[in-house]
Amino acid sequence: MVSATHDAAHAAPIDAAGALRRIRDRIAAAAVAAGREPADVSLTAVSKQQPWEAIEPVLTAGQRVFGENRVQEAAARWSDQNPPGLELRLIGPLQTNKVRAALDLFDVIETLDRERLAERLAHEVQRGARAPRLYVQVNTGEEPQKAGVAPLEADAFLARCRGDYGLAVEGLMCIPPEAEPPGPHFALLAKIGARNGLSRLSMGMSADFEVAIRHGATSVRVGSALFGPRAAHPSP
Ligand SMILES: *Cc1c(COP(=O)(O)O)cnc(C)c1O
Repeated sequence: MVSATHDAAHAAPIDAAGALRRIRDRIAAAAVAAGREPADVSLTAVSKQQPWEAIEPVLTAGQRVFGENRVQEAAARWSDQNPPGLELRLIGPLQTNKVRAALDLFDVIETLDRERLAERLAHEVQRGARAPRLYVQVNTGEEPQKAGVAPLEADAFLARCRGDYGLAVEGLMCIPPEAEPPGPHFALLAKIGARNGLSRLSMGMSADFEVAIRHGATSVRVGSALFGPRAAHPSP
């Protein structure tokens, strides 16, 4: 039951448990339709730019993996939160001067996309920072304004991350161009993963996560379909 006396300053109470269940049901259905195990696809709840009032009920309903795209915003929101099993994933670009702060907060960094960053990560881990789980971001649409290594450079970049910097890469991540059907981009990411021995693929958002699951996504990043529309400005 929803309290009738909720703070009038807040929007109508959201049925977070229901929204979470519906997204998880859709993930499971898409996995089954693709002949895959539902348990092989995990949900990253993208909490960027969401008020805590929207996030907390999702946390209470049992969700433990959250995605954020800015280090400082994420630190303001999450550094005092410590529910058992919490996993934070950085899904936005990482500046080299924020690497240490990112390693203090995030379990997974999905946006490894350049050699300077690989070098910085390796350096901080050597100096005692917690080693993150890493995904290499691939700019499958080769969009100039978008981060990520070009598809043709991905193999060489992965080899350098592993060989030169001793980084264990867990998987690949992509954000397809907004104006194109996402399927070919997901297929390309899966192909690059397969030839590099990487089966973990972070792909698919609110509008296309079912397509991504069909193409082999092992984690989908869902924000607005779970929490509702984001604030226009980041609000920790
Ligand atoms: C914001 C964001 C998402 C979530 O987008 P929705 O469309 O709200 O699901 C997923 N991935 C990345 C990299 C994002 O920046």
